[in-house]
Amino acid sequence: MAKKWVYNFDEVDQAEQYAGDWEGVRSLLGGKGANLAEMTRIGVPVPPGFVVTTEACNAFLERDEQFPEEMWDQVLNSMKHVEELTGKQFGDTEDPLLVSTRSGAKFSMPGMMDTVLNLGLNDDSAKGMIELTGDARFVYDAYRRLVQMFGSVVLGIPDEEFEEPLEAYKADKGYEMDTDLTADDWKSLTENFKKVIKQHKGFDFPQDPYEQLRLSIEAVFRSWNGKRAVDYRNAAGISHDLGTGVNIVTMVFGNMGEESGTGVAFTRDPANGEKRLYGDYLLNAQGEDVVAGIRNTKPIEAMKDELPEAYEEFVEICRKLEDHYKEMQDVEFTIERGKLWMLQTRDGKRTAKASVKIVVDFAGEGLIDRDEAVARVKAFEVNALLHPQFDFEAQEVARQEGKMLASGVNASPGAAVGRVYFDADTAEEMSKEQDVIMVRPFTKPDDVHGMLASKGILTSEGGATSHAAVVARQFGIPCVVGASDVKLDLPSRKMEANGVVVQEGDWISVDGTTGEVFEGQLPTTMPSFDDQEELLTLLGWADEIAAREDVRSGPEGFPTRGLEVWANADYPADAKRAREYGARGIGLTRTEHMFFEPERLPIVQRMILADTSEERVKALDELLPFQRSDFEGLFEAMSGLPVIIRLIDPPLHEFLPGLEELVEEVATAKAKGETEGLEAKEALLKSVRNLHESNPMMGLRGVRLSIVMPEIVEMQVRAIFEAAANVKNAGHEPKPEVMIPLTGHINELNRIQPRLEEIAEEVMADKKVTFAYKFGTMIEIPRAALTAEEIASVAEFFSFGTNDLTQMTFGYSRDDAERNFLLEYVEQGILPVNPFQSIDEDGVGRLMDVCTKEGRKARPGLEVGICGEHGGDPDSIQLCHKYGLNYVSCSPFRVPVARLAAAQAALGK
Ligand code: PEP
Ligand code: MG
Repeated sequence: MAKKWVYNFDEVDQAEQYAGDWEGVRSLLGGKGANLAEMTRIGVPVPPGFVVTTEACNAFLERDEQFPEEMWDQVLNSMKHVEELTGKQFGDTEDPLLVSTRSGAKFSMPGMMDTVLNLGLNDDSAKGMIELTGDARFVYDAYRRLVQMFGSVVLGIPDEEFEEPLEAYKADKGYEMDTDLTADDWKSLTENFKKVIKQHKGFDFPQDPYEQLRLSIEAVFRSWNGKRAVDYRNAAGISHDLGTGVNIVTMVFGNMGEESGTGVAFTRDPANGEKRLYGDYLLNAQGEDVVAGIRNTKPIEAMKDELPEAYEEFVEICRKLEDHYKEMQDVEFTIERGKLWMLQTRDGKRTAKASVKIVVDFAGEGLIDRDEAVARVKAFEVNALLHPQFDFEAQEVARQEGKMLASGVNASPGAAVGRVYFDADTAEEMSKEQDVIMVRPFTKPDDVHGMLASKGILTSEGGATSHAAVVARQFGIPCVVGASDVKLDLPSRKMEANGVVVQEGDWISVDGTTGEVFEGQLPTTMPSFDDQEELLTLLGWADEIAAREDVRSGPEGFPTRGLEVWANADYPADAKRAREYGARGIGLTRTEHMFFEPERLPIVQRMILADTSEERVKALDELLPFQRSDFEGLFEAMSGLPVIIRLIDPPLHEFLPGLEELVEEVATAKAKGETEGLEAKEALLKSVRNLHESNPMMGLRGVRLSIVMPEIVEMQVRAIFEAAANVKNAGHEPKPEVMIPLTGHINELNRIQPRLEEIAEEVMADKKVTFAYKFGTMIEIPRAALTAEEIASVAEFFSFGTNDLTQMTFGYSRDDAERNFLLEYVEQGILPVNPFQSIDEDGVGRLMDVCTKEGRKARPGLEVGICGEHGGDPDSIQLCHKYGLNYVSCSPFRVPVARLAAAQAALGK
């Protein structure tokens, strides 16, 4: 049998059979076509039609823009089917069937590709329709739309060639609105538009309806490779080889009088997720009038009074669609003389806030279960909810002081502060050096690059479903649209609002949550995590999923539950925040950060520069109380949960003044003959020179430093255990774990660890308390990973320091590589991802996998975690789950995202 290139809307079963599953149907028919067919199947009123498949599009593009064999015959057959269903004939001169062609790829690409309406109209059928409807104005308006769209979309004539004669005609007649034009006006404009086509193309607008249809299908196919479609796919990460379907749909008209109308709506509020219909409609109008924002639309609830029956049916259909798709839907509809038709449904784009609320509500309503709710939310959405908003009080003051420039529709939430630029190219260019707000009357698909480069977007026209609003929401960019008080003067590169002139390059603040725009820079704050009820609920479910005992299996010691999420925290305040965000332990405290505090640094320097061990111990004795009180704060904040404290790691020169700086100071003092303090400076310079290393990251640091200068870690261990003992005596439950960094050889641990364990026991005996503790090591050197069995015979836990492990495995300097070549490597595809952001599965990941298995051979049940930057990266978290780690540890702000990712890993998502 010949290949099937065309599916009628009532043939979705066949499409499913061929494509295997629903994903396959969406790939084959495109999202729009698949959903039109699906709505037909479940009994939602859809105008009859059919889909030419994405496979046909790809075949067309591959074969020098020739339709594949038999495709056209199948189109003709399907047109017959539509004629039967509608009782009308395509090209009939009395009561013609009219159709539209609409593009529709697997993934929605709003406004990126082309649509042609009213195909089937020509000079003869227009006359027939006038006789039938008695409405010449309506018919000629429809006819001129066809000629205009056909000219611009199918034949590629610039829009202005049609817009200008229309505007000139209106000016000539003294008309203001399109609605002022009469039947004769539209008729003569139709003739004008035909002339435009003849002038540009040298041939006439085709009168043959099938010729119109054929050329339109070709144009939709071709639009897949149009510049704006390619740009959008690049930005949205959509593959270029999917192709678009072409939907041929019977025309229904929303502009057939006051019983007709058209609109777009979301089944829930896409800004905050509330359960209510959210959208706009227009009586006596065509769909494009709503989307273009040309006429002022009414909120969807107003339809309840104006067209009560259709409204009731519409509400019922929206409910049915949500029930069926189990997703919030974004629908388009038209009412033709009281009869409701659904023209599109798709999963609605939404803000992060709405996304979380909708899944939590859906789970509450029984539409989906909790696992599904957790699986659906994206890591970047949780991230967005932890991002800044304007400081509440500062914003109030700005309002009172009259700093508000304008307000518009709150299209995409969040706070954005930046300098104003008035076109996409400049916005993109300037964004390389500064924060940018792109300001436009409205946006078009060609503006997407500027929008993506901006911190915020402001438009003076358009509504909640305009292009700017949809794109901004999708990419999480704060956006205000339709701020009509903003008067743009694009030629002079300035705007005026509330009596203030804002020049290009001036600062403004845009609040996408409230819809307000302010002059200048408003301070931003973080939303309180505790107030985000739905997010807390969702993350609670995530924790339950990750804690299930049956989600993993592996060799002996492999955990059966999912990953825990711990945090990296150096100070008690960080530990508290981490705990509030849901961390179940501290995976890394970098003790040396505490050495940099102003009152401590001089003591640290004295300790480093000491000539004798006694002098060094004296300085360390002064440091001990500081460290002890830091640790007490941590143990208190994390009472009952493990706290891993890492012993000193960085090379000592980091605590001393820079070599170049000192050389210069000494030289200047000498040149000026200044002697005061010179001797001390020279001594310091000598020590700094002595400590200088060519490769400090591979030098005297980590465990090596502890072996060469054991006094420092001895003090630290004493401080840790004294703190734990004090906290325990005060009624808390400290769980200290001491971590030795940068181990490469078992003998390093053999040398240092027993001495430190002795100190721990001494302190507990002195303080007369006991509590459990562990000594373990970081795995940061490939040799340690490869000899893990030996290392685990001494170390009681492992923690992957993947920053250093990546550095040492690739041989890339973690401080310089990104700046010098690494980003270029990623751009050129030499590396698939930046290995300092996301674990390199084949190299670093393999070491982690081997190390974990080998370590547990020596010590079944060995606790293994990760504390490098990768611990908060969702892709890396998936790998950690697979390798059998017990926990991931990341910065407190990333804990909520990591909790979601850990649960998704447990769900196998
Ligand atoms: C690491 O190397 O991954 C690590 C956590 O330690 P640091 O970043 O402090 O070297
Ligand atoms: Mg390290």
